Amino acid sequence: NTPLHELDPDVAAAVDAELRRQQNTLEMIASENFAPVAVMEAQGSVLTNKYAEGYPGRRYYGGCEHVDVVEQIAIDRIKALFGAEHANVQPHSGAQANAAAMFALLQPGDTIMGLNLAHGGHLTHGMKINFSGKLYNVVAYHVDDATGQVDMAEVERLAKESKPKLIVAGWSAYPRQLDFAAFRRIADEVGAYLMVDMAHFAGLVAAGLHPNPVPHAHVVTTTTHKTLGGPRGGVILSTAELAKKINSAVFPGQQGGPLEHVIAAKAVSFKVAASEEFKERQQRTLEGAKILAERLVRADVAEAGVSVLSGGTDVHLVLVDLRNSELDGQQAEDRLHGIGITVNRNAIPNDPRPPMVTSGLRIGTPALATRGFGTEDFTEVADIIAEALKPSYDAEALKARVTALAAKHPLYPGL
Ligand code: PLP
Repeated sequence: NTPLHELDPDVAAAVDAELRRQQNTLEMIASENFAPVAVMEAQGSVLTNKYAEGYPGRRYYGGCEHVDVVEQIAIDRIKALFGAEHANVQPHSGAQANAAAMFALLQPGDTIMGLNLAHGGHLTHGMKINFSGKLYNVVAYHVDDATGQVDMAEVERLAKESKPKLIVAGWSAYPRQLDFAAFRRIADEVGAYLMVDMAHFAGLVAAGLHPNPVPHAHVVTTTTHKTLGGPRGGVILSTAELAKKINSAVFPGQQGGPLEHVIAAKAVSFKVAASEEFKERQQRTLEGAKILAERLVRADVAEAGVSVLSGGTDVHLVLVDLRNSELDGQQAEDRLHGIGITVNRNAIPNDPRPPMVTSGLRIGTPALATRGFGTEDFTEVADIIAEALKPSYDAEALKARVTALAAKHPLYPGL
């Protein structure tokens, strides 16, 4: 029972340093969040020792009576949370959830449609060197130049032309809501399955603050660690009709033994996601993103060539457009990092700069909302970002303001 800091001081020191980094800086990567201590406790439990290939009640290993309980709780909770007929909580990640869902519904060579990567789609929605781009024939749709929103007329036209077997609706970097009913109508017209990847906005859906894709889609995939606020992992929801196909695509199709310790942590996070506290937190998440968008479209910021894609946001993130700024995405990311704010650079539609540099920033509010940020704090952090993106800025003064905000909302006190 030797503790980590004694057994392996090198790893322990890096873990400690990461804790301090999370505590002392402001985390605004839109796909990140802070898991509750209870979630981390479940994930760090003895369940990591157990092999449990199969599903509750139908395992290929003995001794599964307790992990069966855990996995069934996770399944029941997430079905209730989103109103789904079937749930598979075993995918190790969002990418694996998508791989398994596609494996269940498609044959190699089939045509799929997804949102182009540079327009906000995910790698697994058909990027060339991802499994999705290699195994399937990909027809990508885009956002409209003028509105910055998904061009549903293009989706319909491409679907009719290419007759896909699957249409993927979902995004990693997009500031608006999708019209799931319209996607389903188009899918039905061409005989395609509709898969919604709600990895980013699942927490907002759970809180009732974003339309729920479950009633519209054949399959819904998600991660559990973004707005949903749980451990890193994936989930697939589907109709009862597809349950068998989905389960066998996950195991034995894609994975071996499930990570029951992570499934336990997922179960805990689904309990949290059904609470009033969680809903209130998601409200602050949305409010924070709106404040950020408003403060970044002010005249003094526009003068520096900075604007916001689609003019605002309906979700937990803002996409900053730097095409007219002297700063590129890399420089802007570095600048914010220098004052203690962590964001990621992001390609934007029709980006003139290369993918490793980009002309955009993706800035999200979930982690700060989890930390307790409210209206005043989000206004302050938005103003700090606005100042930092101007041609001249006072790094030391801004860093001091970031430090004050971090100190006002302690993260993991006592750890
Ligand atoms: N789907 C979407 C929409 C995502 O944004 C992501 C994460 O970036 C994933 C899937 C993949 O999740 P993971 O990183 O857990 O594989």
